[in-house]
Amino acid sequence: MVDKFECEKCGQCCGPVPFTIPMFKRFKDKAQRDYILTPFSEIHVVPVAESGDCVFLDENNLCVIYKDRPKVCRLQGVIPKLPCPHDEGYEDSPYPKIYGQMIGDLLK
Ligand code: SF4
Ligand code: SF4
Repeated sequence: MVDKFECEKCGQCCGPVPFTIPMFKRFKDKAQRDYILTPFSEIHVVPVAESGDCVFLDENNLCVIYKDRPKVCRLQGVIPKLPCPHDEGYEDSPYPKIYGQMIGDLLK
């Protein structure tokens, strides 16, 4: 865990993330852009937008479902495995590559 984390609200980490199907149904009307809905597991789906942004990121780089955002979003920048791109040592993290592969695979 990091001692203190100041999110700059740049939206850079808000790419496609998995949602449980009930959660996505609950919030899908708040989507900010068109997307392809892709199965991720038996209980999860990932909405993928052409821009690579999360469908719930608005034009001001704010999350429109912030209070209810998934756990993975709450951990971004807080645990070492989900580093903020502005963290020191970020380039050493494999995470961006994993993300890029995931997006590429989903769009095939
Ligand atoms: S966690 Fe980092 S990348 Fe994500 S919005 Fe905050 S400052 Fe930007
Ligand atoms: S749900 Fe919100 S916090 Fe999570 S990736 Fe999407 S816009 Fe970012």
